[in-house]
Amino acid sequence: MTTDASMLLRTPVDPSVLSSPDWWLYQLELSLLRKRPDLQVLADYATGQAPLMDIAESVRTAYANFQRRARTNFAGLAVDVMLDRTHVAAIRTGADGDGLGDQMAWDIWQANQLDADSNALHRSCFEMGEAFAIVGDVDPDIGAPLITIEDPRQIAIARDPMRRRQIRTALKTFTDEWTGWDHAYLYMRGESGGPAYVLRAERSRSFGAGGWHWLGEPQALPFGQVPVVWFPNQLDIDGITYWGEFEQHTDVLDRINSTVLQRLVTGAMQAFRQRMLKGLPVHDANGAEIDYDGMFAADPAALWQVPAGVEMWESQITDMTPMLMAARDDIKDFAAVTRTPLPALSPDAANQSAQGSEIVWSGHISKVIDRMSALSESWEQVTRLAFLWLGDEARASRRDMEVLWTPPDIPSMSERFDAASKAKAAGVPQSYIMANIVGMTPQEMRRYADEMAATAVESAGPAASVTATTQDPPQDPSAGGEQDPGSGDPMPGMGDPGHGDGGMGMVAIRDDSPFTPTPLQVGQYHALEQLVEAAGKFDQTTGGNGAHYVDPSPFAAEGMACGNCYFFEGPRGCEIVEGDIDPQAVCKLWIIPAELLSQGGTT
Ligand code: SF4
Repeated sequence: MTTDASMLLRTPVDPSVLSSPDWWLYQLELSLLRKRPDLQVLADYATGQAPLMDIAESVRTAYANFQRRARTNFAGLAVDVMLDRTHVAAIRTGADGDGLGDQMAWDIWQANQLDADSNALHRSCFEMGEAFAIVGDVDPDIGAPLITIEDPRQIAIARDPMRRRQIRTALKTFTDEWTGWDHAYLYMRGESGGPAYVLRAERSRSFGAGGWHWLGEPQALPFGQVPVVWFPNQLDIDGITYWGEFEQHTDVLDRINSTVLQRLVTGAMQAFRQRMLKGLPVHDANGAEIDYDGMFAADPAALWQVPAGVEMWESQITDMTPMLMAARDDIKDFAAVTRTPLPALSPDAANQSAQGSEIVWSGHISKVIDRMSALSESWEQVTRLAFLWLGDEARASRRDMEVLWTPPDIPSMSERFDAASKAKAAGVPQSYIMANIVGMTPQEMRRYADEMAATAVESAGPAASVTATTQDPPQDPSAGGEQDPGSGDPMPGMGDPGHGDGGMGMVAIRDDSPFTPTPLQVGQYHALEQLVEAAGKFDQTTGGNGAHYVDPSPFAAEGMACGNCYFFEGPRGCEIVEGDIDPQAVCKLWIIPAELLSQGGTT
């Protein structure tokens, strides 16, 4: 492959050398010109501009108006109902405890306003079967690598035959609508460990493949990958074919439009029923031909006088019920083949049985989850490229990156909290409940944990009683009876104090300690306890989620050891730090009675 810069300074493109940049520009533009009309047809369907039926030239104009009115945008509805359930909630960079990496990935996402733009990308995938994103260098305006969402009608790619999601060469073209100039960016991956390149070309106006001139020198990228990411929808096993959500069902859409058209035409014709007068004379008394045009006005107040013996006839109304039923059947077919819930297409269907509705919705949700997993692969690639631009090769090379989505089944809040209570009673970890049942994003979980910690410190203010009490929440004397273990608040601290929430009004530490903690220690204890309940235990490392556990404690002789800590759970455990805990070790989160620090004894 030739990437010799000196060959490319405003020189005409010569596609004769196989695999040269010139050759790729020519080939990819041909590929783009070939696929663009098909993509445009799908985009037209999705925007309610489905192609009109071919019809005889003589009635084409008259029919065109009817046909336009007959097009109902079911394709757009099928896509919208998918988009309603496809929202990225967060990106995990993979490493346990890499909170900073997760936050960086999310900051990049937010800086590029991808909450909104990802929706446009997903729409393109569902409508046209594919979309693209280009990841660029750090943009000073947003302080992050620039990620642009790309229209598949402007991009063509050549994939790696072995790893089909990897792009070897990509072309983006667009026309400046003011100058009429065509612009092209050709991206070529690095060979043999070398850098990737981007080359620019332009031509005076669009006239099919060819006519390009290179502009300037190829620009080497700081890595070897093409910074273009492909988002295919419903990728086939051949790795090449992909499908928009309704692409395989445009015949059904045409059928629906055709039936609606027939109904419109029939209805319009029946509004002007045909009438006939039988037995009217053709000539008047002078033998001249009688001109009946305008003689029988279709006016409600008109009075027609006709010769004796003339008979009148009027055409009959056609029953349009079969046409209506046929259209409804076609809509049902479309809902079934696209796994779109029928109520989304036809409000009449909202009254179907609960069982039938559940089957339909579960099929739809399965489809959404399937599409999410494909989209995740591409968003992970986007994130890796962004880290590459930042020079963070460690995070860019992680293969266990994960895109988190908001739950696609969107149950009501009361359903979620009900399920959360049951999960808590069954012993499901709090962090799992918050993420997967309540549907909190990592950002919301962090905010929640911060608020819980702040509330706990506040509630344990200087005036609070610090007498050691039981760890179990007090029973509400007015409630009577035993507390249901399964009714524990799934979101501790958000419930009513004194009603099983370990509540904000309660100031307690341990009942197995003879020592009296200080008010600050009480606040610290509850803050950490609730933080861990919300976000999981600290690990023993010095990382972001680490407790900086040191074994043995360098200050054990002064009583600063796990065995003296309020969190210690003998023989070798800790309430807030995971793993094996030695009584002679210590970590930065210790809370130790002042008496033990001064005496050096053990609890
Ligand atoms: S010092 Fe306390 S909090 Fe830290 S590991 Fe030991 S017991 Fe746990």
